[in-house]
Amino acid sequence: MAVPVVDQELCIGCGVCAELCPEVFEIRDEKSLVIGPDRCDSCDCEEAVASCPVSAIELVDNT
Ligand code: SF4
Repeated sequence: MAVPVVDQELCIGCGVCAELCPEVFEIRDEKSLVIGPDRCDSCDCEEAVASCPVSAIELVDNT
């Protein structure tokens, strides 16, 4: 299964990913934190990846 990883250097804390996938991403200290890496079944993590304005999210295969 692919899990999302956020590059903390790139993230500008815009909140788009947390809006699309609130069970996966949470904004803390103006950065996106992956709180539910296995919850991409609850939303479209690929859309979050595509919607990030600074391409800070990557889907990494953890199998
Ligand atoms: S969409 Fe991208 S820049 Fe915006 S909070 Fe999420 S990871 Fe950070």
